[in-house]
Amino acid sequence: MPETAIERTIDADLPIYRAPGTVMWKLIASNLLNRPVTEPAPPVDRAALAELAAKVDKAARARLGRSLSIRQVDAGSCNGCELEIHALNNPYYDIERFGIRFVASPRHADVLLVTGPVTINMAEALKRTYDATPDPKWVIASGDCARDGGMFAGSYAVAGGVGAVVPVDLHIGGCPPTPTQLLSGLLALLHHVARGGA
Ligand code: SF4
Repeated sequence: MPETAIERTIDADLPIYRAPGTVMWKLIASNLLNRPVTEPAPPVDRAALAELAAKVDKAARARLGRSLSIRQVDAGSCNGCELEIHALNNPYYDIERFGIRFVASPRHADVLLVTGPVTINMAEALKRTYDATPDPKWVIASGDCARDGGMFAGSYAVAGGVGAVVPVDLHIGGCPPTPTQLLSGLLALLHHVARGGA
């Protein structure tokens, strides 16, 4: 059957969609035969992590009389920080088994865990979220961008770090911070609060 003009255009622009025997089949064969090119996962000390999470829960119960509730706010992050935060809830880390919960509303939260530089579009939303969170409440700025805008500082779309919009109690550095660093930060905050720091 003769090739139409549209088929010739598609072939020229998107060679991956060409007929069997050409580029698509070479890609499929290559993907089947070769291993994925990814970096090995960093080692995780699960025992240390479990100990850390248990300490956070104990400190929260001592301070609040109950477990800790966290509301996460993405104020303009690249989502790298969210991937690590989400990992805390996955079956591998599973921090909910220690009573530490992520909640859907700031009205149920003790801690606001804020990521990213605060974009102009999110500044008002972050302020309202802060106002809606009942006292006592603490704000953690998570990631290098949350401190001062990080690599996005100076952008026309960025208001600054989290501290430029709401009061910050703790900053956890890293790009992005790992789940262990996040738990260490929570523990440091609760110890600080227990010593009368806020
Ligand atoms: S700290 Fe890194 S991972 Fe987190 S929002 Fe900024 S660039 Fe993304």
